[in-house]
This record gives sequence, C-alpha cells and structure tokens, in this order.
Amino acid sequence: MHDKLYIDGKWVAPLKGGKADVINPATEEVIQQIATATEEDVDLAVKAARRAFDKDGWPKLSGAERAKYLRAIASGIRTNQAGIARLEVLDNGKPFPEADWDIADAAGCFDFYAGLAEEFDTKSAETIVLSDSRFTARAVKEPMGVVGAIVPWNYPLLMASWKVAPALAAGCTVVLKPAELTSLTALELADIADKAGLPAGVLNVLTGAGSVAGQAIVEHPLVDKLAFTGSGPVGSRIMTEAARDIKRISLELGGKSPLVVFNDADVEQAVEWIMFGIFWNQGQVCSATSRVLVQDGVYDKVLACLVEETKKITIGNGLDDGILLGPLVSERQYSNVVRDIEKAKAAGASIACGGKRPDGFGKGYYLEPTILTDVPLDSEAWNEEIFGPVVCIRSFSTEEEAIALANDSRFGLAAAVMSTDHERAERVAAAFRAGIVWINCSQPTFTEAPWGGYKQSGIGRELGRWGFENYLETKQITRFVSEEPWGWYIKPKVGA
Ligand code: NAP
Ligand code: MG
Repeated sequence: MHDKLYIDGKWVAPLKGGKADVINPATEEVIQQIATATEEDVDLAVKAARRAFDKDGWPKLSGAERAKYLRAIASGIRTNQAGIARLEVLDNGKPFPEADWDIADAAGCFDFYAGLAEEFDTKSAETIVLSDSRFTARAVKEPMGVVGAIVPWNYPLLMASWKVAPALAAGCTVVLKPAELTSLTALELADIADKAGLPAGVLNVLTGAGSVAGQAIVEHPLVDKLAFTGSGPVGSRIMTEAARDIKRISLELGGKSPLVVFNDADVEQAVEWIMFGIFWNQGQVCSATSRVLVQDGVYDKVLACLVEETKKITIGNGLDDGILLGPLVSERQYSNVVRDIEKAKAAGASIACGGKRPDGFGKGYYLEPTILTDVPLDSEAWNEEIFGPVVCIRSFSTEEEAIALANDSRFGLAAAVMSTDHERAERVAAAFRAGIVWINCSQPTFTEAPWGGYKQSGIGRELGRWGFENYLETKQITRFVSEEPWGWYIKPKVGA
C-alpha cells in the first residue's frame, strides 16, 4: 500500500512515475519507498473525484449519512493511534508524544466535522425576507466540488485532516497530495477511509513531488478549489495559477509571529510559553512565535531563565522516552536552518545558546535549540521565517513600541502577549494585526476556532465553522409568488 497511489477506491502503481525513498530523519536510513505520481495519475484521480461528485451522489447524501463515514474514519484513526503516531515519528522526526497528540487531534477533527455535516441538513438554508413581497427567497449552501488539497510536512496527518474532514463533510470530493518528505500517514488515511467504506473517488491520495503532482493538481481544469498549506512562494504561485480559471483558493502560509512579554508577566510562565512557542515540533510550526519582545524591566531575568531551561531540553530520537526535541525533518531543512543562523551571526546577532549540532550525534538532522540576541531589525533573521528551533529575542520599553515592533512584518499569522494586567493584554490583543492571538499562552490550537493569517500569511480560514465554509458555495433561490402576472412585455388582458 505505501508504494502505491490511492485512486478511485483502488491502490494502483503510477502510470509513468517511479519511486522515492522515505528517510527517517533521526537515523538517515531509507525506511521504505513511496510512489511518485505524474500528471497522468493526477488526471485519473481528478476525473474519479469529478465522477464521485457529479454522478455518484456523494454531495447528494444527507449530511447525517456523510457524517457516518467521517465518524468511521475518526474511529479508524483512534483504533491505531499509537501505530500511526509511530509512523509519523519515523517519517517526520517529531517526539512521539507530540505525534500522538497530532493523531488524536486528527481523529477529533473528523468527529468535529461529522457534527457540522449533521447540522448541515437543518442549517444549510436560510430564508431571506425580500423588499418585494411578490417574491420569496432562500440562500442555500452547497459543496464547492472537487478539491485539490496540498499539504506540508510539519504536521502531515493533521494538516491533511484539516482539509479532508471539512471538505468531505461539506459534500466535496478530494484529491490529496501530502508532502513527499512525509507521505506515510496520508496513505494510512486512505487505507482507513477505504476500510470505512468511503465510496470510490471521494478521497484520492497521490504521493509525489510538488513540482510535478502538486503542479498538475493546481493546473487541472476540473478542480474547483485548491486548499493549500505551505510556503509563501508556492502559495503565491498557486494563487496566480488559480486565477486563470478562477478556482477558489484557501492558503495557509508562513509567519514570523511575535510574542510580547510585559514587566508584569509571570516570568516562569512566560518562559514556558516562549519555549512552547518555538521548540515544539522543532520550531517547524507556521505559527511559531519566533520573535520574542521582552519589556526592559524583566528582559535580563527572562533571558537568563530561558537560556537555563533551554539547555535542559532533551534531544534525541523521537521514539525514545523523555525526548523533547527530535531531528529536523530533512537534511535540506537542517542545512537551511544552519545557513540562516550563520547569516544572522554575520549580520551581528549573538548566540545565547545552541546554534550547532548537539555533541554525540553522528547521524540524524539534529540541531540544538537556539536563542539569538542582538538581532538587527533589518536582518533576515528578524524578518524571515527560519522554520527551525531558533528564536530571536530583544527588549522594548513601552507598550506602544512593542505593538509597533510586533506589527512591523509582512506576515500576520499569529501573535502572543504575556501580562497579568488584563486590560493591557486585551488592548495589545486588539492592536495585533494577526489572525490568531494568544493571551498568556502560545500555540494551543482548537478544532472549533478559526485558523489563518492576515497579510502575507494567507487567505481564508481553516477549522471551526469557518473551515467548513471554505468548501461551500452559496446559492440564492428566488421564487415568484404573486397572483398577478409580472406584465412587463406581455401586458395582462384588461378584464381577463
Ligand atoms: P512548500 O514547499 O510550500 O510545500 C508545501 C506543499 O506544496 C508540499 O506538498 C509540496 O510538495 C507542495 N508543492 C511544492 N511546490 C508546488 C507547486 N509548484 N505546485 C503545487 N504544490 C507544490 O512548503 P514546505 O517547505 O513543505 O513547508 C513549510 C512551509 O509551510 C513554511 O513556510 C510554513 O510556514 C508553512 N506552513 C504553514 C502552515 C499554516 O497553517 N499556515 C502550516 C504548516 C506549514 P513537495 O514538498 O512534496 O515537493
Ligand atoms: Mg520523511
């Protein structure tokens, strides 16, 4: 199964493509192979999804009927939660408890959207009272059609679930392309859906390169909507391509999110959330709070505590007990992050801790958690996403200055504020130009709350009812109910 594509309810070999190695980032060993789809396979998958949407009746099922499949998928994920989490660790490198959390969240996501699918039966139409009583109208929500879902490698199954679950719940059919680096759990998802009896063509999973399989999905004229999570440059390219046939898009892109600590914050708690905000998932998190701003009264204390606690982080193979930081996902990602640290140093930044491969690791893409100080405001390190366990920290004096520094970014995905003064925290939360704001925490994410960015961090929202709307069109149905004829061209006969 893992070296095949899942198209139209069947496991098939790619028509022209070959295979790619799957590498365990903790050991650098090839653990298996996956298939690499080409445009020929994408064409088959899109046409299968099209048939399942246009002819086979997936969108015509009641929401309650679709919900049964979603709940069966949720239960299939939970039945083998530990096994899937282990696969995610082998593929991505994250510590097992984090993977286990992700997989539980993925199951929860299918259950959540099953609930919305059930509600859909009674809530998808809304009466509109018109200004002209000769007409009545209603607004009806309908599924958008065939969805091309393209996801990254940092939360492989979870990012796939954030798209597949609401899309299926809404009545759409899906062609999913996971990241080539981390495709194994998406294939597991296809297997679970297959065993849950999901009708053929409703979900298709194609592994392969973004520049080949991904690009073919983006360009396919029979795809109605593209749901993408990944980097800004690829997102921008998808938006441009989508413009040609006015495909609907939702984009979840990167960020350089600020975390602001005020003098009145609880220092230990602030440090806990700074660490959670940048070292969880090895910092390979789109919403990572990678720019930390600390008010001058507590800066020295926060930095000292942060360095002390960061040095205690246990690094190692994510399958071993007690590991808090695993390897980065790939050799390329490791080299990119190391290059960014070198550039930061060249620009004048200092390393308070980390910045190198930990001692005693011969194999694996391991990097020490890294704290950068004195990072110039105009440097790449301060402004661009590093996507690794690297945080930039600097001081500020006034609330006004903190807000200005926090918002001085082309990104606007997330922002966090630490303060025991509730009014201040609310004021700063309101001033942040970001789609996700955390007060006295950083990163906790809930399936029921909207997720997405301002500015260049994306367009549209995932999760919650907002994520459901992503896959729905709105139709108005207006009915002429007057007893009197309209009478514009054909005048009513007098006395008739
Ligand atoms: P990426 O290079 O943009 O890749 C994301 C996905 O797009 C992968 O499946 C990739 O395929 C595919 N892809 C690449 N080129 C494509 C093309 N021309 N057409 C269609 N698809 C294409 O991003 P990444 O490096 O994997 O992920 C890291 C980035 O994602 C970071 O910038 C991060 O901030 C962002 N991210 C954002 C969120 C969010 O919720 N906002 C969440 C996670 C990650 P292959 O990799 O298989 O070639
Ligand atoms: Mg891998």
